[in-house]
Amino acid sequence: MKKTVGFIGWRGMVGSVLIQRMVEENNFSNIHAVFFSTSQPGKVGPNIQESNILQDAYNFDCLITMDIIISCQGGKYTDDTYQKLRSLGWNGYWIDAASSLRLHEDAIIVLDPINLQDIYSAINIGVKTFVGGNCTVSLMLMALGGLFFNNLIEWVLFSTYQAASGAGSRHIIELVKQMGYLYQSVENKLYKKKYSILDIEKTMSKSIQEINFPKQEFFAPLAGNVLPWIDCAMQNNQTKEEWKVQVEANKILNINNTIPIDGTCVRVGTFRCHSQAFTIKLKKDLSYSNIHNILQEHNNWIRIIPNNVHSTLNLLTPCAVTGTLNIAVGRIRKLNISTNLLSVFSVGDQLLWGAAEPLRRTLMILLST
Ligand code: NAP
Repeated sequence: MKKTVGFIGWRGMVGSVLIQRMVEENNFSNIHAVFFSTSQPGKVGPNIQESNILQDAYNFDCLITMDIIISCQGGKYTDDTYQKLRSLGWNGYWIDAASSLRLHEDAIIVLDPINLQDIYSAINIGVKTFVGGNCTVSLMLMALGGLFFNNLIEWVLFSTYQAASGAGSRHIIELVKQMGYLYQSVENKLYKKKYSILDIEKTMSKSIQEINFPKQEFFAPLAGNVLPWIDCAMQNNQTKEEWKVQVEANKILNINNTIPIDGTCVRVGTFRCHSQAFTIKLKKDLSYSNIHNILQEHNNWIRIIPNNVHSTLNLLTPCAVTGTLNIAVGRIRKLNISTNLLSVFSVGDQLLWGAAEPLRRTLMILLST
């Protein structure tokens, strides 16, 4: 009999990419899908299966009838419903994009190219809660999986260049509004010789400061700017986004000795790809060809980009990677400081491998067991 799978948050960025990928892979043919909404119950949902009237995402009588629930709705929804549903005796599988349950003892963070065996072991011992990792964590592990797997990493330092979409759909719309606001402020000057580039720059810099400049979501301009702060503050001076990286990565890797991983998370004005620069302390000096092979062989989505200007500008950018499952890895070079210090730059679509794809693949694993 087909399993009944409830989808919550399918309208958001992660949820809509999840649905898109499931349609591409024909995954709906194996399930009975029920779509929920927090804001539009009773309205018509996605046109995927016959019954597509949206159910109320807070209707526990309905939620409790699901075999599997996938929530891409956000942490607040998870906090509002998960424990209550469990306390009502619901014993189905809960798959979640939000961070709320990631560090729960009885939950596993899912990224099957890294921890497939742990996912199977968890299913075998009755784990029912499967949570996608933080986007930068999943993308880092996908990019550097070969080095982690071969126990070659002593520590990692990172700088991220995170896209607006990581903050949700309203933020990406605001970024576009900001770009439009800036363009409009100088549109009439761009093609007139009497205005110097400094006139144009000054007008834009002034318009960024205007009261009407749209920044209700980011609380700061992102267009023409970078924001070196993501999420709330931790007591140790990290941001929560930075704190998550070591904690979540080590939980996914499930190894005895914690690998130190730290760095700075920065929001930049790209749309849906996160980029990351890594400095990696290797446990031993490896040849370039060895490093390339180890990285390449880890998973099917790695694309090693040759360290030259043409390849880098065409293949190692958010514009090149967006909308694909590729994990572009390039600028691979040993630092002058030490041959054991490796510099790597990586780009991945944070809505695909960074969010929706591990959830989709977990659903398929659960359906196949
Ligand atoms: P989102 O785009 O803000 O969507 C969440 C919900 O907001 C939707 O399901 C929808 O709920 C409502 N919504 C309000 N205005 C909307 C609009 N204009 N368009 C679409 N939906 C709108 O959030 P998200 O980025 O998908 O993130 C969902 C969860 O995944 C969060 O917990 C997040 O932390 C986590 N996550 C996100 C990413 C990422 O890259 N964005 C990566 C990893 C994990 P209703 O239909 O019920 O109104």
